[in-house]
Amino acid sequence: MNTQKNFPRVFSCEYFPPKDDEARAKLHDTTRELAQLKPKYFSVTYGAGGSTQSGTYDTVKWIRELGVDAAPHISCVGATRESIVDQLQAYKALGIKRIVALGGDLPSGMASPGEFRYAWQLVELIRKETADWFHIEVAAYPEMHPRAANFEEDLKHFRQKVDAGANAALTQYFYNVDAYVRFVAECEQLGLRLPIVPGIMPITNYKQLARFSDACGAEIPRWIRKRLEGFGDDLDSIRAFGFEVTVELCEELLAAGAPGLHFYTMNRAAPTGRIWQQLGL
Ligand code: FAD
Repeated sequence: MNTQKNFPRVFSCEYFPPKDDEARAKLHDTTRELAQLKPKYFSVTYGAGGSTQSGTYDTVKWIRELGVDAAPHISCVGATRESIVDQLQAYKALGIKRIVALGGDLPSGMASPGEFRYAWQLVELIRKETADWFHIEVAAYPEMHPRAANFEEDLKHFRQKVDAGANAALTQYFYNVDAYVRFVAECEQLGLRLPIVPGIMPITNYKQLARFSDACGAEIPRWIRKRLEGFGDDLDSIRAFGFEVTVELCEELLAAGAPGLHFYTMNRAAPTGRIWQQLGL
């Protein structure tokens, strides 16, 4: 953990591209609110297979116009080399300097991943095409990627992304501090020297959280799950308890040396904003 403490702390927020005009207008308001907290950047997710390629670009563009830094996510499974290079050039022309490079998931209905299977290949391509223009963030999984055969294999593959030129990592969300501490320690044993910033998912809706967690392999510890289940449809109690749990998680992570926090905002200002203010960031 000691080397993580040496990295400057970076606090950031994540969005997904809005689907329509109403959602876009709401996200403008969210951004104005969250921008007051001065996150280092807003990152914008990307649908594998190009489903939100223009949505990601447009969102990144208007976030920049509000005077805040934005980082597009870009994924390679199902994409062609040409389409990736086009995106890199477009972002470069926009003055974007930070990018989140992902393998992504094969979109349903698409039989073959195409020429790219893994994120390390994307990192390699970005470095080859744009040298050191971009600060590259990659994904990390303290509780293991759901498709990984075992922890050691997953760590080996994480290392491959770092060796290909990643500058930093953002983790999948989790609620077990020990999983993060152990992951960071094992990275350090391998000699990996890069900031590994924990991803934080505010808890506001149990059913949605359970669905996401099943899909992405994040564990909701039993005691948290049981308490949340016990609240039934009482959203106020879920939010109050979720707030306490998430604030405590963030405090413990920062005390353990985490070099910042990356908030999965779900395009809403209040849940992230309240945690941010409580932490006094
Ligand atoms: P990889 O690093 O390629 O890993 C994927 C799997 O392949 C792992 O199990 C790994 O162990 C294995 N692997 C890697 N290399 C090899 C190899 N050489 N041989 C064999 N196995 C290997 N998804 C989106 O669609 N859009 C987004 O915007 C998005 N943003 C995300 C942001 C963050 C911070 C995180 C944590 C995840 C995000 N995801 C997003 C989800 C991500 O795309 C999925 O988890 C995807 O399944 C894996 O992407 P990756 O970059 O981790 O891939």
